[in-house]
Amino acid sequence: MSGDIYEINLFINGSVVKPSIGGYQSRYDPGDNGRLIGRVADGSKDVGAALDAARDAFDRNAGQWVTDYRLRARVLMRVAEIIRERAEELARLESLFAGKTIRTSRMGDIPRTIDMFEYYAGIADKVLGHSQILRTGDISVIVRQPIGVLAAITPWNFPLLILARQIAPALAVGCTVIAKPASYTPATALELAKIFQQAGAPPGVFNVVTGRGEDIGTQLLKSDKVDVVNFTGETSTGKWIMQMSAGTLKRVVLELGGKNPNIVFGDADLETAANGVTYGAFANNGESCAAGSRLLVHRSVKERFVKMVAERISRIRVGYQLRDDSDLGPLVSQAQLEKVLEYVGAAESEGLKIVAGGNRLQAGEYAKGNYMQPTLVDYTPPSSKLFREEIFGPILTVTEFDDDEEAVELANKTVYGLAAGVWSTDTAKALRTAEKIKAGCVWINTYYTLPVEHPWGGFKESGIGRNNTVLAIDHYVEWKGLYLDAQPGKMKPYYKLVLGG
Ligand code: NDP
Repeated sequence: MSGDIYEINLFINGSVVKPSIGGYQSRYDPGDNGRLIGRVADGSKDVGAALDAARDAFDRNAGQWVTDYRLRARVLMRVAEIIRERAEELARLESLFAGKTIRTSRMGDIPRTIDMFEYYAGIADKVLGHSQILRTGDISVIVRQPIGVLAAITPWNFPLLILARQIAPALAVGCTVIAKPASYTPATALELAKIFQQAGAPPGVFNVVTGRGEDIGTQLLKSDKVDVVNFTGETSTGKWIMQMSAGTLKRVVLELGGKNPNIVFGDADLETAANGVTYGAFANNGESCAAGSRLLVHRSVKERFVKMVAERISRIRVGYQLRDDSDLGPLVSQAQLEKVLEYVGAAESEGLKIVAGGNRLQAGEYAKGNYMQPTLVDYTPPSSKLFREEIFGPILTVTEFDDDEEAVELANKTVYGLAAGVWSTDTAKALRTAEKIKAGCVWINTYYTLPVEHPWGGFKESGIGRNNTVLAIDHYVEWKGLYLDAQPGKMKPYYKLVLGG
């Protein structure tokens, strides 16, 4: 760091290294676009070195990383401890670059990142297989072995947490990693690499390469040194990642977009639901694949419920991301702000009703950054662009329904299938509804509760595979069958098919 401008370099084979072509990309404060906060290394000519480091560390079992599960558990646990010790500093760094409020980083991103490492530290020595005595008396032993090198490609909205979610299970089972963080928010990935080194990870186990996604991504995906890729980001990028990975038949885990419905039935506890719906739509400024961005509400309570949500929105304080009293910060970039504002324009031209917000904030201090009012848009039909497309910003749409069947139909009227919420005091109905929704996660009478113990991933175009929980382990292991002959030396009757006799 120089002054308060962070120099974000690469981390390869246990060392911080400057980019070999010497190039850096400037990064500006989302809350004050004129303020330079970081210079991000262009690692486009250094991907080969990172690939070699990660491949070599795995193939040579560097420092016993691949075979010593106690070492891996100790390192992951120590990483969690160091993050806990440096929580405030990391929270500030995360918020500064991403624009998320400091309270979000403190209460959400950082503690949940710690949970990731602690959870998978506990799994490192429990990656068990199976065995069976066959009817012939022979023994089949099925073991799980780490697959090899993981390329972890992450987005800007939860930079440290999503990186931790991708890499913690991979490292727990003995893989090595090359991380490619989002260009807007690479700072905490580099810090994490340094923390791994401090925690005792052997060189080459965890590498970071920053730079332009398409360029670095292509090199990682084309390489036969990478065995598995875990990508979180836009659905369109995910499709491209899958195509690129086909050349070497890499295993692919994809966490992509969402257009998540929050269904409020007429019998819901409306106060609780209004809190959950408002939080679900606007947490992290709606810049989240999990955002409950489509409110589907029963006609009998709709007018009342919309007023309740609008009243909550009116109390949201938008402000600089590092201020303790900000509820929402700026959007991550000017480009993102413009993209989100285009949806407000679309709502207007489609004749939808903007009940709350709808504007960029520009007065006083707001003029410097990417600030926007949280926005509520009523009378949104399924044909609307706002109903169909992932906005990734603070816009909540409202659509009413008449019966349970229509609620499910509307919920599923999307190419995505990541998450959903169901609000009802009738548990049987809530469960029946949850069962019919095509989504990887359905919250009932709550929203956005996502501990590491709960699986995360999507149906349909929201992705492939599940992160979190023990389910994530399987992305990073190969099952291998070992066949033991119980009567070695004895001629097998079927050998005679070839050997005669
Ligand atoms: P992108 O898909 O644009 O980028 C994600 C990552 O991929 C970044 O590191 C980016 O690098 C890199 N990247 C971009 N293009 C390529 C490429 N051609 N090949 C390889 N890597 C590439 O998404 P955003 O960062 O804009 O994140 C927002 C999106 O992520 C939203 O659509 C959201 O739904 C999704 N998301 C999904 C989550 C989930 O759990 N399902 C969680 C969080 C976000 P660079 O930054 O350098 O462009």
